[in-house]
Amino acid sequence: MEIVVTEAAADRRRKKPESAEGLGFGNHFSDHMFLMEYAGGKGWHDPRIVPYGPIPILPAAMVLHYAQEIFEGLKAYYAQDGNVCLFRPDRNAERFNRSAARMCMPQIPVADQLAAFRELLRVDREWIPRARGASLYIRPAMIATEPTLGVRPASEYLFFVITGPVGAYYARGFEPVRILVEEKYVRAAKGGLGEAKAGANYAASLLAAKTAKAAGFDQVLWLDAERRQFVEEVGTMNILFVLRGELVTPPLSGSILPGVTRDSVLVLAREWGIPVAERPVPIEEIVAAAADGTLSEAFGAGTAAVISPVGAFSYRGREVRVNGGRVGELSRKLHREITGIQYGEIEDRHRWVCRVE
Ligand SMILES: *Cc1c(COP(=O)(O)O)cnc(C)c1O
Repeated sequence: MEIVVTEAAADRRRKKPESAEGLGFGNHFSDHMFLMEYAGGKGWHDPRIVPYGPIPILPAAMVLHYAQEIFEGLKAYYAQDGNVCLFRPDRNAERFNRSAARMCMPQIPVADQLAAFRELLRVDREWIPRARGASLYIRPAMIATEPTLGVRPASEYLFFVITGPVGAYYARGFEPVRILVEEKYVRAAKGGLGEAKAGANYAASLLAAKTAKAAGFDQVLWLDAERRQFVEEVGTMNILFVLRGELVTPPLSGSILPGVTRDSVLVLAREWGIPVAERPVPIEEIVAAAADGTLSEAFGAGTAAVISPVGAFSYRGREVRVNGGRVGELSRKLHREITGIQYGEIEDRHRWVCRVE
């Protein structure tokens, strides 16, 4: 893949945030973006890096009507030795192709996705924050651009990658979250899009999240669509529990997003000799275990926070605290281990860290 680079003129460069403090998430975008189009018969073509800016699509573009869209999310950061690194980016690229298959969209070779990230990082290297914990978030996405209103898979697509600096998630230490167990709305049903990283899943989740926030909660805990009985995910993260010393998490049975962080957590726990069970988790079991103290930890796992401890669940109007609202030992250890591996402070035994030349 030959990427043509058109750099932004010096006077068109965007203002970089002055410090990593107050960056937040998704508020700033770097000077350049990667674009590549697909047309049936022609395949992927014109891979290029251009100044960040509007992308022209017609109002009839199918993505705007039928939501044929997928995305990914990963971070580039400066490791301790001064190298720019990515964490298991091949996993994101492979998942992107699985999402594409589910959404009837064309595949992009993993090597080409990684080449696009690398070249974009080279061009916008000055946008990568140097503060520990801060990073350059990479957002690849694919949209259906064919301008027609017939309901069928599109024959034309745009793949784009944008990046932007984001702050450290825990600038002030771990902050356990309060979770509302959601019984009315569902995120995804088996057979639906839950396994794909599709924007449509997020659209489906907004009302529940908004209602929960208005009621003073940080996130919702999603239950299964059929019976509202089994735990699925927490907000936009995978969920894990420590129950009587065992690490328990729902299995990837169709409606759950296969998280890279979830996988990394399970690999580490097994390596540490902690019993691990991927099995259906009834919400009743969790609430009862939180109440009688046998649930010692609950935490979300995802790229942004890595580990997000849950301090309390509210279920049917009753609030139960987890471990007295304190952050558990395994949550801390996993966060320390994964970020330690990412930043090159702990040996990368699994070759998860990918150095960007
Ligand atoms: C992206 C995502 C996750 C976390 O995946 P990671 O690869 O660990 O970042 C979990 N759940 C949902 C719904 C997601 O979209």
